[in-house]
Amino acid sequence: MIDFKNNEFWFVVGSQYLYGEATLRQVANDAEKIAAGLGASEFLPADCKIVCKQVVKTAEEITRIVKEANYNDDCAGIIVWMHTFSPSKMWINGLSLLQKPYLHLHTQFGRNIPDLEIDMDFMNLHQSAHGDREHGFIDARMRSARKIVVGYWQDEPVRQKIGSWMRSAIGFRVSKRLKVVRFGDNMREVAVTEGDKVEAQLKFGWQVNTWPVGSLAEEISKVAEPEVDDLFKDYENSYEVNTDDIESVRYQAKMEIAIKRILEREGASAFCNTFQDLYGMDQLPGLASQHLMSLGYGFGAEGDWKISALTHIVKQMTKDRSDASFMEDYTYDLEPGKELCLGAHMLEVCPSIASGKAKIEVHPLGIGDRNPPARLVFEGKAGKAVLITLIDIGGRFRLIVHDVEAVTPTLKMPSLPVARVMWRPEPDLLVGTHCWILAGGAHHSVLSYSATAEMMEDWAEMMGIEFVHITKDTTVENLKQQLFFSDLAWKLK
Ligand code: MN
Repeated sequence: MIDFKNNEFWFVVGSQYLYGEATLRQVANDAEKIAAGLGASEFLPADCKIVCKQVVKTAEEITRIVKEANYNDDCAGIIVWMHTFSPSKMWINGLSLLQKPYLHLHTQFGRNIPDLEIDMDFMNLHQSAHGDREHGFIDARMRSARKIVVGYWQDEPVRQKIGSWMRSAIGFRVSKRLKVVRFGDNMREVAVTEGDKVEAQLKFGWQVNTWPVGSLAEEISKVAEPEVDDLFKDYENSYEVNTDDIESVRYQAKMEIAIKRILEREGASAFCNTFQDLYGMDQLPGLASQHLMSLGYGFGAEGDWKISALTHIVKQMTKDRSDASFMEDYTYDLEPGKELCLGAHMLEVCPSIASGKAKIEVHPLGIGDRNPPARLVFEGKAGKAVLITLIDIGGRFRLIVHDVEAVTPTLKMPSLPVARVMWRPEPDLLVGTHCWILAGGAHHSVLSYSATAEMMEDWAEMMGIEFVHITKDTTVENLKQQLFFSDLAWKLK
């Protein structure tokens, strides 16, 4: 499974030779201090560091550092800042080669203007207000996909925004290496889970390929009992075993071991399957898929490879918080003024979003035509969250993010033995759902409490795809207009 342990973000400071050696030494010293300050930020994601690179002063130096960034596997992105003026024609050749996520930090070394001390030399040294505008122009002129963060580098909102963008950049890095294993095809006749896999590889880098369900069944039959014993112990440590049907639980362990073995063999980090193709299998993988998701693997049901890939990416972007799951909108409670959506799936919801200890239970399943599958049953936690979905709208991909407020379930639902969570979509269920449907949002999504719309918007920009955000301020009229114009714009691209 992809899990990058060293994500380097290169801090590159622009200047020029106009100011003399002493000034350039000062620029380099200040750059070191800012890089160290950003590197010590409490918002720095896990396994990330800021690496202070040389102060670049010529077109050749800029081109060289961009080429190095492109070819360095550990470099997850570059952050640039113009301490002094750095004429931007020097940047054109380098930036036109850049293939890594790119952030333009607009800050300055000192917070305040020193009243008595300031003279022309001070202004020449501390002129990012001036230099960063020159830099902003060339990015705008080149239509560079870049994140702009503005503010004093020691301030919390600035460090928070940089941390958030770093997570998006990890999502970009994961995307470029991601392999998805499909066990069987998409569910028959379903439209939204389909998509152009060649275009997905061109845009995202995902290698999405199929493996026979029969070979999975064969792999399941090869799993040895002591391996099952070990995984069963893991289950007992993490969950409450609330069933006497231990054999059914052990069969899920067997499936989990077999699926994981194939994923490892193929170097894949995500998989999907379908209840319509369980050839040679005794149960639909429930607990097996749920536990694999909790380890960080992506999953999509009914052959949904797009959501499977997205689940893994979101999990890696937020891996130090680890609370994201494959999700499906199921049923509404339409009590006026208190409307809620009940999210669940037949089985496969990740226990990383559970509010308490999940229970392993075995119950019959109306579809799939197999033995009653063991699954984890739990309530999702309350809190602000986002629903993220990705659709192939024909000619392009559209990422849709919906702000929601997950709530402690208002009902006990004792006859519904699946993992479930309830939420109130913004601005309310009726308008929010109207907007989701208008934008073509799928019934499958990724629910995450740690990912944010800003993080996903930055990721969409890095990947070069359309982004739609449904917020507390979204109206049907505005969204209709946005979708109309964006359809025209994307046709011209
Ligand atoms: Mn489904």
